[in-house]
Amino acid sequence: MITIAIANQKGGVGKTTTAINIATAMAATGWRTLLIDLDPQGNASTGMGVAAAARTLSSYDVMVDQVPLSDAIVGTSIPGLDIVPATVDLSGAEVELVNVEERTSRLSQALQGHRGHDICFIDCPPSLGLLTLNALSAADTLLVPLQCEFFALEGLSQLLQTVERVQQALNPSLGIVGVALTMFDRRNRLTDQVADDVRECLGNLVFETVIPRNVRLSEAPSHGLPALVYDHSCPGSRAYIGLARELIGRLPRERKAA
Ligand code: ADP
Ligand code: MG
Repeated sequence: MITIAIANQKGGVGKTTTAINIATAMAATGWRTLLIDLDPQGNASTGMGVAAAARTLSSYDVMVDQVPLSDAIVGTSIPGLDIVPATVDLSGAEVELVNVEERTSRLSQALQGHRGHDICFIDCPPSLGLLTLNALSAADTLLVPLQCEFFALEGLSQLLQTVERVQQALNPSLGIVGVALTMFDRRNRLTDQVADDVRECLGNLVFETVIPRNVRLSEAPSHGLPALVYDHSCPGSRAYIGLARELIGRLPRERKAA
């Protein structure tokens, strides 16, 4: 199984939207896909239609009480896509784990030897705290959604510093599979300028596919559905299909045999 953390310490940049829709696109392509909701806000769980009552075991139980991952996995309405949901309890995990010796490797321990899925996406919270560190320690690679706005690059350098520290201390083989530009607005000159700057700075690391600002992407979660199911032909859905295709092209060859 290949594990991809979707992280950016800024909130509202499209992490959860990207996690839900890329995971859905991968499942539709025949990859047995697991989505781990690691944000106490539980937006990925809600967006996938997992009701609060169905979250009996969650990522909190896996992280704090070391409940086996397989016990916390629930199915979704999408064939081939399962999820480990999150509850608000998870907001306490950072504090509860603070004195635990291997506090940054709880998630990688839980994922160790996991069978039954080909690919796993971890939807991270908007911080560089213990939860995100667990995701970066557990992941093979990182996908960074970057909103096309003025301070985008500034936040990114802080994230890249964290990645370097994780590589040195916790997970030497952590890679960065790519940066995805989100909420792109063609009519806004600043967005255009930011996209150009980011490409100039990061080169091929930036996915060619750009996710447009599209109201259908923001409507879908309130129906408990990925946009790809809610409206599969809207510009946002089509962009996420393109991004998934590009992602598959960047994955190590031996992992592609799903
Ligand atoms: P994060 O997980 O980084 O906090 P979200 O994916 O939850 O970000 O996105 C923040 C808000 O913006 C949500 O309400 C979401 O529905 C909306 N959104 C995300 N991407 C787009 C987009 N490309 N176009 C329009 N709205 C978007
Ligand atoms: Mg989110």
